[in-house]
Amino acid sequence: MSSPILLAVEDLTVSFDGFKAVDGLSLYLERNEVRVVIGPNGAGKTTLLDLICGKTRATGGSIKFKDLELTKMAEHQIVHKGVGRKFQTPSIYENLTVAQNLELSYPEGRTVMGSLFFRRTPAIQKRVQEIAEEIYLDEDLDKSAGLLSHGQKQWLEIGMLLIQDPELLMLDEPVAGMSVVERERTAALLRKISNNRSVLVIEHDMDFVKDIAHKVTVLHQGKLLAEGKMEDVQKNERVIEVYLGH
Ligand code: ADP
Repeated sequence: MSSPILLAVEDLTVSFDGFKAVDGLSLYLERNEVRVVIGPNGAGKTTLLDLICGKTRATGGSIKFKDLELTKMAEHQIVHKGVGRKFQTPSIYENLTVAQNLELSYPEGRTVMGSLFFRRTPAIQKRVQEIAEEIYLDEDLDKSAGLLSHGQKQWLEIGMLLIQDPELLMLDEPVAGMSVVERERTAALLRKISNNRSVLVIEHDMDFVKDIAHKVTVLHQGKLLAEGKMEDVQKNERVIEVYLGH
């Protein structure tokens, strides 16, 4: 049987001109787990995700994804190995349709040279349809992506990652700017995604965090401040101190 741990971050450190944005951090993420990383601004949350996806190079420590050491790998290799990352601002192609955006993201959906002549094999079409249903956009497949609501654009980008079949999906503030209904649908989507993947989320919206997190990791000044179930973390005196500033 494979290990329940999908991602093992150990003693991870990164310094920028001597300033440690992430400082000796360890974190273990299980398969099918939704983990939310919280903490005040500047705590190192974004830097942690940047380190995992290879955008930033670690100064020390290790990041094991299954049996792969990610700190030695390039960003595109990490994507190929099954780590998807969504940034806060959606990077969708507004002039293309929802279906085309998904097709473009399918690993073999582009013809050689990465040109915009889409391959529409039955297998690709089936996958596009499945993903569109999952992200609530199956009735909007022929709609121009630029016409979608803010929330729908976020879902489309999640779909563009899902179609690449990642085992770990990392999301940076996925519900920022969403309506209440969109937030609830996003929570349902993430719960569904975690049936067969792990999800690592940065989020500030505490109601949403309570809704989705199996476990919460609290960062402060690049270090682990607390970790556990949301109801326990909320009562942690050090966490209260950091958030309320006394
Ligand atoms: P968070 O996402 O928790 O708000 P960040 O990870 O963005 O925090 O930033 C943590 C700290 O690291 C901040 O003080 C930020 O200014 C610093 N930092 C992040 N990236 C860089 C960089 N490339 N160069 C210098 N400092 C950086």
